[in-house]
Amino acid sequence: MTLFIDVDHAATLFGKIGIGQAITQMASYIKADYCRWADFDKSPRTANHSICGVIELMPTDDGKQYSFKYVNGHPGNAGNNLLTVMAFGVLANVDSGYPAVLSELTLTTAVRTAATSALVAQSLARKGSTRMAIIGNGAQSEFQAIAFYEMLGINEVRIFDIDSAASLKLKQNLESYTGINVTVAASVHEAVKGVDIITTVTADKAYATILTPDMIEPGMHINAVGGDCPGKTELHADILRNARIIVEFEPQTRIEGDIQQLDADHPVIEYFRIVRDNEPGREHDTQVTVFDSVGFALEDFSSLRYLYDQARKYAIGEKIHLVPMPANIKNLYQLIDESSDLSSASSPQKHQRAAS
Ligand code: NAD
Repeated sequence: MTLFIDVDHAATLFGKIGIGQAITQMASYIKADYCRWADFDKSPRTANHSICGVIELMPTDDGKQYSFKYVNGHPGNAGNNLLTVMAFGVLANVDSGYPAVLSELTLTTAVRTAATSALVAQSLARKGSTRMAIIGNGAQSEFQAIAFYEMLGINEVRIFDIDSAASLKLKQNLESYTGINVTVAASVHEAVKGVDIITTVTADKAYATILTPDMIEPGMHINAVGGDCPGKTELHADILRNARIIVEFEPQTRIEGDIQQLDADHPVIEYFRIVRDNEPGREHDTQVTVFDSVGFALEDFSSLRYLYDQARKYAIGEKIHLVPMPANIKNLYQLIDESSDLSSASSPQKHQRAAS
């Protein structure tokens, strides 16, 4: 039997655990998996592009468990009241190939992306950072604010979106977090002035320049989340040229990240080197650092492991027959229930070829 975790199950689970706690716990699963980087079979995700967006498959395995995520990116969806990003995925046993979990991963992607952003920022943001700007106040934004509050102690958040209703929604949703002081800014310039960290999490299928070099102050950390597809960027290339750049999996980020704008040999550092202390994170207080986040399969593998553990702990989810279980495994045919055939020719004669 496969454990099925739908959106209601995941929402109940995150509600029971508490979203701040869930982000922190998921971050520890992600960190543990980055620490054993060599165990994973890694490849850039497979992307099917259209003029409206992209649909991607993200597989990986560690020799014991295998996972994949199906995820889309359709910046125009919001105009039709559809999500820009939605996802689902599977965690399976490598030995048998049988799926252990089939889960929603839309909510979970927001949790894992925020957890990864904050985890990376722990090594890159200046010590004692308290102020962050969030540019792009859509579906991912609350999770980003809460992750940085829980994991870095960010307590002042300045927000900006070209859609003022999105900013108002973010401000209202964060009201219960009394430790976070939220201010809506009138422009990107106003939002980023004097902050320690800038999170860009916008959606536009374009070479956008949400941030330009004149906005960047010494020592800032930029958590660039929205530039994650060929032809879809957020940062002016000169910001990247003057920064220490951290990526998840270099071959994938060269294709999809903001660094697609740079020469192919421009130096970048893969995060696993930092988490394993092979490389320093931030080198000095005035250095500008960029996490060019695109989302990597290992993080979804970790999320599915986390979900599976928590769903069993709280007895949430439903066991489903995703895979047949015939008494005789060579007799798959026995599972066909002919008595439920609704066609008019349900008599034995239906198997006879029509005489011509
Ligand atoms: P969303 O559509 O819900 O929100 C995007 C917001 O960006 C919207 O409110 C929109 O008005 C705003 N925006 C667009 N252009 C802007 C601009 N020029 N200035 C300010 N705001 C602007 O999308 P979402 O689910 O929140 O995702 C946001 C982005 O993050 C998407 O591009 C998505 O592909 C990306 N994403 C990345 C990862 C990752 O792992 N790196 C994971 C999930 C989502």
